[in-house]
Amino acid sequence: MEGSDGGGKRLLVVDDEPAMHDCYRRSFAVASDGAALGAMAAELFGTDQAAPAAAPAFTLTHCHQGFDAVAEVEHALAAGTSYPVAFIDVRMPPGIDGRETARRIRALDPAINLVIVTGFSDFSPLEIGRVAGPPDKIFYVAKPFEVAEVVQTATALTARWHVDRELAAARDLLTAQVAQLEEQKLELAANESRAIHTATHDSLTDAPNRLAFQRALTDRVRRPGRFATAMIDLDRFKLVNDTLGHMAGDRLIQEICAILAGAAPEGALVARLGGDEFGILFDTSDDGAALLACDRIIAACSVTIRVFGHSVRGGASGGLIVTDGGTDREPGNVLRHADLALNEAKRDGRGTVRLFDESMDESIRFRRRVETGLGSAISRGELALEYQPIVSRDRIEVVGFEALLRWNTEQYGPMSPETFVPIAEESNLIHDLGDWVLEQALAEARRWPGQYASINVSPRQFRRDDFVGHIAGKVAAAGIEPARIQIEITETAIFDDAGRAAETLTQLRALGFRIALDDFGTGYSSLYNIRTFALDCLKIDRSFIDGMGRERESAAIVQSIIHLGRALGLGIIAEGVETEAQAQALRLAGASHLQGHWLSRPVSAAQARDLAAERFIGGSLRSEVSRTFA
Ligand code: C2E
Ligand code: CA
Ligand code: CA
Repeated sequence: MEGSDGGGKRLLVVDDEPAMHDCYRRSFAVASDGAALGAMAAELFGTDQAAPAAAPAFTLTHCHQGFDAVAEVEHALAAGTSYPVAFIDVRMPPGIDGRETARRIRALDPAINLVIVTGFSDFSPLEIGRVAGPPDKIFYVAKPFEVAEVVQTATALTARWHVDRELAAARDLLTAQVAQLEEQKLELAANESRAIHTATHDSLTDAPNRLAFQRALTDRVRRPGRFATAMIDLDRFKLVNDTLGHMAGDRLIQEICAILAGAAPEGALVARLGGDEFGILFDTSDDGAALLACDRIIAACSVTIRVFGHSVRGGASGGLIVTDGGTDREPGNVLRHADLALNEAKRDGRGTVRLFDESMDESIRFRRRVETGLGSAISRGELALEYQPIVSRDRIEVVGFEALLRWNTEQYGPMSPETFVPIAEESNLIHDLGDWVLEQALAEARRWPGQYASINVSPRQFRRDDFVGHIAGKVAAAGIEPARIQIEITETAIFDDAGRAAETLTQLRALGFRIALDDFGTGYSSLYNIRTFALDCLKIDRSFIDGMGRERESAAIVQSIIHLGRALGLGIIAEGVETEAQAQALRLAGASHLQGHWLSRPVSAAQARDLAAERFIGGSLRSEVSRTFA
């Protein structure tokens, strides 16, 4: 055996005849200095990889027996200098023949290219391919061979072997990188779920925290079906904390949390809301079943618990509310109500559960009182109307009065319509109230020389059956022209059912009523989608007038409402005008009418009568205004 590493261009030649080895030697000696061969290889591979200058000579290793060759391949593999190509003679007595040599070499080295050099009567190629395959790594050269044939085969197979190796290396690298990425992905996912867990769980008990509870509640409120929300609070927890220390307090919280989880109905969510407060959410059939479940939970807490060697008497109170899901209940309100019930339970002397009822909620109690009061306000003469002048921009002439409802309550004194109108609106009271306002205003308007009365109509009134017939009947009965009644409606009234509202407005206009869109700019409608409604004017909401001097946006909004409103042929009433500067700016911007404290506060019916007769706002104000607007 002889030879050395030839920069990867190593050939193993296995033949029993020394003459053949000489023949190989000569062939490759010619090849190393033959430019023609380089060109041939370049043509074969289409690259300059095998260009003459770059083509180092092959290094041949000569073996005379199959055993030697197998040993040499094994040795080369171990040394990391494996052979790209081996030329193997088929017949090599007395050792193993070429077929067996090929088989053994293949078993050692799956990448090596085997070139079987055969005489015509040797094994069929198929037979050798079967034992030393795969077919793309086994080749045949017939004896006697041409120099060029052998060199070309060696060159081509060596080059391919190198390319294959590079590919394999690249593939291995990719596989490793993919595996690494896969690992990083898993790690990230684990981190993420750990972060989510931390954000939604309480660190002391590992129970869901307030955030998780609120989310679950928000979710549950939307789904149909009845469910219970309970708030549980430990009794005397502060005492444990103060006398035994915070560690003991923490321990007690953990113990109680476990007890709650065990005692709560199946499928319930038990969360620690903070401190010694827990929330429980579970489905239930009715109040009774929910109360029973809660009683069981409270009873379970009332045990003696060992904490750091001390016996601590557990105990808890509960507040409970049963809610129908799938309605538009506010999750915040559900929690607030459960909390109110809990407060009652604590006040009742601990260790009990209280079910929420409306009397516990001060805001509900207040609403009920307002409702009751309003029901008899008319008959008790507690209601009155005030009138606020609406004046034309140019001559400060009073063209109409907005009727504003006043209620002097027995219990609370004067109450703002902003408080009681929405409550009346939620019940049928608004209809009686609205009728009363209309009748009063009509009676007053008859005493004015020509001004109109501007009446606020709430969405519920506007949507009642035959609103048009109702109002037209009252106006006719009072003997007043519809043109002297202006109906103020808000965007909410018309956009909830735009089709029907458009029809109502058209009918009203056809009868001669004036229509004003109140509080314009605060809702969602644009001038673009109000253009199809039969309107006479827009009232720019006073929040924009108020902001005009301070914020650019308000001034810009006012400007564009006026501009576009006028383009649609609408009058523009600016309400809430409080200063001369505002009046001046609004006039310049093109508002057609003004209303507000700077001109006149809402006044009594008697004062309104005087103003109506005078037609202009009197006193020093008038001259001032006239001067400004002249
Ligand atoms: P609104 O329709 O926007 O009425 C204008 C409100 O602005 C009135 O408040 C009025 O007193 C007030 N106001 C007038 N000028 C100025 C001003 O220069 N500066 C300020 N800061 N405020 C000014 P009020 O009378 O308290 O009425 C509040 C709301 O109650 C009304 O808002 C209206 O939505 C409702 N309301 C009043 N009366 C009735 C009524 O008879 N029926 C219905 N459905 N709603 C009414
Ligand atoms: Ca109004
Ligand atoms: Ca308004």
